[in-house]
Amino acid sequence: MTLIKEIGIKMKQISKFSGEEEILAEIPKITTQISRSKLKIKWNQAVEEAECLAAMNKDQRISSFFANDFLASNSQLINKAESSSEEKAPIKQPSMLEKNVVSDHEQQALVNDDSEDNPRHLIPQLCKIFYANGWVTGTGGGISIKYKNQIYIAPSGVQKERIQPDDLFVQNLNGEDIIIPKPDKNLSKSQCTPIFMCSFTERNAGAVIHVHSQEVVKLCLLNPESEVKITGLEMIKGIYNEKKGKFYDNDEELILPIIENSKYEKDLVDTFKTALRKYPSTSAVLVRNHGMYVWGSNWKTAKTQLECYEYLFKIVIFKKIHNV
Ligand SMILES: [Zn+2]
Repeated sequence: MTLIKEIGIKMKQISKFSGEEEILAEIPKITTQISRSKLKIKWNQAVEEAECLAAMNKDQRISSFFANDFLASNSQLINKAESSSEEKAPIKQPSMLEKNVVSDHEQQALVNDDSEDNPRHLIPQLCKIFYANGWVTGTGGGISIKYKNQIYIAPSGVQKERIQPDDLFVQNLNGEDIIIPKPDKNLSKSQCTPIFMCSFTERNAGAVIHVHSQEVVKLCLLNPESEVKITGLEMIKGIYNEKKGKFYDNDEELILPIIENSKYEKDLVDTFKTALRKYPSTSAVLVRNHGMYVWGSNWKTAKTQLECYEYLFKIVIFKKIHNV
């Protein structure tokens, strides 16, 4: 069996069965093998397609596989590699990419949308603010905003204070990609996407913010239980009671769930969902030794609640440490 066939089969296998991390981990190995084989063929598109598959959820990946998009587009590449040592014509862009990405014109229209609520402009701005507050340092954290029935998502593993408008991923409420960043940017969708989508679908959120906040970690260290209770502080009035459909009064008790951390962000989904159902009033879930997810009906209430929570956590930590 030729090396090129082996690589093709390997790509099919990882596309069908593997998760995002496994696919992304395979890409450098495949590229190295290709370069060693000295075959003068553009494999960038195969790699791009693998990255596109990695950005999909499992169901999309499987349905795409069975629709033969991946097989068809890669058999073209494999045939080319076997029939010619040199590429003579541009390889057709895989259909899987074409049908998931809107036209340049439509994309430009979205980028040119000057509304202050356009996440293309908002997310980079907000990430700068969150970074300055120490909430998304070291590439941690994330944000997603719903706008005109589309979900805008920040990329994963990047310096959050340097995100550009065209770095964002856009998908619909079914999780299907609408716009993805250009492949040469080498970006992947936020690892928090499954949790973001859970907040959109379970709570009809308009925006979700994930922070790696020291205050949250400290608060959880001081609270080994599965929830934290906060009372007697004016800033409680800035928190929205999702069950009652109104903001808390300052004499009410605020109760927030704490869930245990996991190896990967996506593995938090089940416990996150359980917490949402057990605490119908809450607009935030704390993740022990990790951070917090907070959401609101729009980006403004998500942001102001994040600020109120951080304020409240500082006071609660102070009270616990000083026993006052
Ligand atoms: Zn995180």
